Amino acid sequence: MNICEEVKNAAAIGISGHLRPDGDCVGAVMGLYLYLKKACPMADVQVMLEKPADIFHCIKDVEEIHTDFCTNIEVFDVFIVLDSDKTRIGDAEKYFDRAKKTINIDHHISNAGSGMVNYIEPSASSASELVYKVMEDKSLIDEEIARALYIGMIHDTGVFQYSNTSPETLRIAAQLIGYGFDFSRLIDETFYEKTYVQNQILGRALLESILFMDGRCVVSMIDKKTMNFYQAEPGDLEGIVSQLRNTKGVECAIFMYQIESMKYKVSLRSNGKVDVAKVAAFFGGGGHVRAAGATMQGTFHDIANNLAAQIELQL
Ligand code: AMP
Ligand code: MN
Ligand code: MN
Repeated sequence: MNICEEVKNAAAIGISGHLRPDGDCVGAVMGLYLYLKKACPMADVQVMLEKPADIFHCIKDVEEIHTDFCTNIEVFDVFIVLDSDKTRIGDAEKYFDRAKKTINIDHHISNAGSGMVNYIEPSASSASELVYKVMEDKSLIDEEIARALYIGMIHDTGVFQYSNTSPETLRIAAQLIGYGFDFSRLIDETFYEKTYVQNQILGRALLESILFMDGRCVVSMIDKKTMNFYQAEPGDLEGIVSQLRNTKGVECAIFMYQIESMKYKVSLRSNGKVDVAKVAAFFGGGGHVRAAGATMQGTFHDIANNLAAQIELQL
């Protein structure tokens, strides 16, 4: 796909990604936004996305995002969704539905393609990697665009550690660091650095985790009361499930936090044997083979038991 060809002659272009945007979502959306502003100077390009976490404020023009999903544009000529299908973009979905042309670029195996034009590549490390590929005119890429895409790639690959990292991922990363931003500092500040509160809540989740299925699964949960006590946001819980997955002997890690009474956001991670995308899809969620998620109803114990039954089928 050549994104410039796809948006040719469009006067209004909208871009969105999934709710509670992670590093890949923010990086891909902002990378494409910065690129299209340069490639289509006559077009009105707008981003509709929930407010990115503070660590992503190092990305150029992130303050231009319409975080309230309000805009003066009734009907976009082209609306592009990245790192998700159209069902996880919240209030941006109405702009997508009304748009004259829709484009969906994603790397989730669970995404069948929700646009009129789709570029879904489950083997890609990240949506950011795909966005780099659709930027056919590489001469328009600058340090700021490269920084945004690089952030996306490091977040979805765990700094090029996860199995979704391919030779192509590293070739693109090599091109990106050639633009000269301080990648070492960027990795520290957006991926590894935790606030005091984030570390405390990670500690709580590890302390209260439960091993089951002969040590092949681990589960932990943070309830609303604990979130309130630490004044934590969902973004403060990122990385907890990865740490659980690092437990020796564990094949599958489950982490959930309470959204409301009897409702939890569940994260699943696998060390390879369990296809957690399949488990998540069974409960209405989705994701990748080794990293997936879902929103589930019930008590913590009900949800853990239901997940365990599906995981056991694969072990
Ligand atoms: P998370 O555990 O939220 O970090 O999500 C892990 C992976 O699964 C990410 O790639 C998410 O985009 C994806 N994912 C999480 N929840 C869902 C869902 N409800 N539907 C589809 N994909 C999801
Ligand atoms: Mn994502
Ligand atoms: Mn992604």
